[in-house]
Amino acid sequence: MEVMVVDVYILLGLNRKEYLIMKTTKEKGVIEVELISNKKKVRCSNCNKFTDSVHSKLKPIRSVYLDSCGEKVNVIIHKRRFHCYNCNKIFTEEMNLNTKNGSISNKVKIQIRKDLLDYNMTIDKIAAKNHISKYIVRKELEEAASIIPDYQKNLPKVISFDEFKADTKAGKYAFILNDPIHRKVLDILPSRKKERLIQYFTHTENRRSVEYIISDMYKPYLLIQQIMFPHAKYVVDKFHYTRYILQALDKIRIRLQKDDNVKIKMYILAKITM
Ligand SMILES: [Zn+2]
Repeated sequence: MEVMVVDVYILLGLNRKEYLIMKTTKEKGVIEVELISNKKKVRCSNCNKFTDSVHSKLKPIRSVYLDSCGEKVNVIIHKRRFHCYNCNKIFTEEMNLNTKNGSISNKVKIQIRKDLLDYNMTIDKIAAKNHISKYIVRKELEEAASIIPDYQKNLPKVISFDEFKADTKAGKYAFILNDPIHRKVLDILPSRKKERLIQYFTHTENRRSVEYIISDMYKPYLLIQQIMFPHAKYVVDKFHYTRYILQALDKIRIRLQKDDNVKIKMYILAKITM
């Protein structure tokens, strides 16, 4: 079944100046749109000079496009390879339509990211809505999660470490990274283990400009400071320090009370001074 070509540009949000739709068909509920670039000359991917010398044509790539009125749409992209007069390089033209591996269009990729942010959407629902496999949705989720956020790359000059009981798969304590000056929680990690934290802070670009790390006396934190933040001072916060001293004093008091010799000496001492 042939579909009117005139409407397809508007329907798919494609610019007439950039793309030429060669054929549109609808088979078994799937709309397929075959297109090529409208550009006569392109910029070389190597030296950025224009060239109009077509070297060859690539095998067409089929990519899932945005759902249109509840119908699945595929774009079949015909790409050309160009020869650059200036640097002699042979390169494939960039059409800004599909992702690197080609199976989905850029617009679908953006739509998946938007859907992933929606709490009501499950992976199954996103896959069905966008006419793609669950595998693609999972891949997008992994890719989005692997992007290193700014707060991890650039830490403030003063940071503090703490933990809370969480019982995650990774351990019994979760790790909290804070900005104590601005009273902000920067991040929460499922584990406070040294290896995990080293891996985490490897992505911090300004480690050498962190000046203070405030924390308790948990030894791995001190090691993290020494290994990952060589210019920072390790500061034990008041609360943990006082508690530590009081616990130490208690231990001595209990030990002395158990010791009979000490009891007698204290008794004599008390008698003399009285
Ligand atoms: Zn070139």
